[in-house]
Amino acid sequence: MPDAPQQLAPGVHRLGNAYVNCYLIEDGNQLTLVDAGLPGFRGGLDDYLRSHGRSVKDIAAVILTHAHGDHVGMAEKVRTDAPAPVHVHEADAEMARTGKIHPRDGSLLPYLRRPALWKLFAMAVRNGAVSPTRILELTTFADGDLDVPGRPRVIPTPGHSPGHVAFHFPDRGVLIAGDALCNYNPLTGTRGPQILPKAFAYDALQAIASLAALERIDAGVMLFGHGEPWTDGPSSAVTHAREVGVT
Ligand SMILES: [Zn+2]
Repeated sequence: MPDAPQQLAPGVHRLGNAYVNCYLIEDGNQLTLVDAGLPGFRGGLDDYLRSHGRSVKDIAAVILTHAHGDHVGMAEKVRTDAPAPVHVHEADAEMARTGKIHPRDGSLLPYLRRPALWKLFAMAVRNGAVSPTRILELTTFADGDLDVPGRPRVIPTPGHSPGHVAFHFPDRGVLIAGDALCNYNPLTGTRGPQILPKAFAYDALQAIASLAALERIDAGVMLFGHGEPWTDGPSSAVTHAREVGVT
């Protein structure tokens, strides 16, 4: 994929690189940043905003699908520079505050021969993921609609992390799945909808069970933390992910 930002649906923009995505939602003059990538994504965010005659001050909210390091990178800087509140599910709030990750369901050892893992690590280091990001002030939520630009509906999808959620933007036909599933496995390099590997997950079986919350959602465009957009509907993505199972 190109490293340049892309508009995927009206007012829905993708930022990031071939390994990690985050998204900007436009709503009138205001913007919501959905996930915050890695610290090094900030330059790309500023360039993108400038090219659209905007600045970080137009970001009214940051909302997180979960609090892993590749989703919170820019959040604290954007929180103070915009300034804008950072919203996270209450079950991931402690991780967001401390940068301390929960126990993982599997080991990275089996993947050490995989080039995809080393490419991911090198990319993360290039983008400043060298120490945990801590978000000093948080707004927490549980479910319902978020009162931020774009008005997403929160879809709890625990498993990849304890407080993982997806965001549905019904009026845009867009579902941001975060890491409830991905379209590129960052450890094995395989493509196609699947849950994230257990070495990155809190509870992979719970992640499989959470797919049920997504499969009936009507969304022409499904977006992921990792991998290309999916336009064949959440139901077929979930079917594919169940077939692949736990990796
Ligand atoms: Zn991720």
